[in-house]
Amino acid sequence: MAIEESLTEEQQELVESAAEMLYGLIHARYIITNRGMQAMYEKFASASFGRCPRAFCCGQPALPVGRSDMPRNYTVHVFCPMCRDIFTPRSSRSASIDGAYFGTTFPHLFMMTFPELIPHHVSQPFVPRVFGFRIHKSSPYHAAIVTSSGAIKRRSKVSRRAKAL
Ligand SMILES: [Zn+2]
Repeated sequence: MAIEESLTEEQQELVESAAEMLYGLIHARYIITNRGMQAMYEKFASASFGRCPRAFCCGQPALPVGRSDMPRNYTVHVFCPMCRDIFTPRSSRSASIDGAYFGTTFPHLFMMTFPELIPHHVSQPFVPRVFGFRIHKSSPYHAAIVTSSGAIKRRSKVSRRAKAL
């Protein structure tokens, strides 16, 4: 009797899901080998992983990246070597793939392996303007940015000011 026949439907699903995860984790390991890197080079050259959606990155081809090396945490994202930020993939098919099947290391090791692919100029930051003028550093507009450490400082200054009032 074949193994598949002796398993219940539920067990069969568990086996398939475990096999998919194992295959995915082997894939993550494979793409950081020499042969895997070469295969990914071909795909990157034809922009198979999509392009950075940022206007200032001018259609820079992107690379897949995981936000975690542990499966079932995050779906795959795309990393732009120009702005060095990550994005949600455009296609819904890609958006359902586990990020751990690519891993957190791949795009960075790829750029270190093929330094000629590192974009020559770093993408310029977007500067918001109101009627052509830059928004002053002291404006609460900037305090709302929580990603930069400077903004966190400004935010704490604002909260200190609020306490003093
Ligand atoms: Zn970019």
